[in-house]
Amino acid sequence: MPPATLLTDIAVTIDTDALLPRLHLKPQSPEAREFRALAIEAQRVARPKAAFLIGYINARDNESVVIAGTRFASRVLSVNLSAVHRVFAYVATCGTELNEWAASLTDVLQQFWAEELKVTALRTATTQVFAAISHENPGQMASMNPGSLADWPLTEQRPFFHLLGDLPQQLGVTLSDSCIMTPNKSVTGFRFGNDSGYVNCRLCPREDCPGRAAPYEPELYAQRYESAD
Ligand code: SF4
Repeated sequence: MPPATLLTDIAVTIDTDALLPRLHLKPQSPEAREFRALAIEAQRVARPKAAFLIGYINARDNESVVIAGTRFASRVLSVNLSAVHRVFAYVATCGTELNEWAASLTDVLQQFWAEELKVTALRTATTQVFAAISHENPGQMASMNPGSLADWPLTEQRPFFHLLGDLPQQLGVTLSDSCIMTPNKSVTGFRFGNDSGYVNCRLCPREDCPGRAAPYEPELYAQRYESAD
């Protein structure tokens, strides 16, 4: 396997004014002033990180795919990877520094705001790792994340962490027995060449999801995945 790429020096710029509406804070309110002060502190503390490695596809059948010797059980993943020979396995995190800072807060409202600041740090890390992957693989790409679909449940984090080896540890990311990551604002996934506009959300029926990136398409699974071989 080619050597992994680590991104451990990622700068974060928090656009507090953009976050105020999400938090239902009026710009001139005392709460907004308190949030801005918290965001400045978060920006000082935050050390988001990310890493990726390239895995070559060894084998594929209707229900699973073997990547760099590790088997992943997902029909959607198997179909989505039918036209590529390699994937980019990535992990991104808001970082232990910001996670520990947030855990030290005692005010409930500040704890809630801190979660949003952690999301901003995670998004920054994810953007950076996607840019680094695009440098290796120009062109249209898509992502799939363990736990994002019933077809590829959270328990698939176990083989995913096996594939990543010591990369999560180097970034301070751990996986519990119940497959929950710490810091909680961390993400893993495969990134791969794809020109069909694949987005997990198109197969996900969850209602009222604040992270939805595309409308749910109830017929898509039957059309594209059920009959694929
Ligand atoms: S709708 Fe929400 S839960 Fe479903 S895949 Fe998209 S972001 Fe994830």
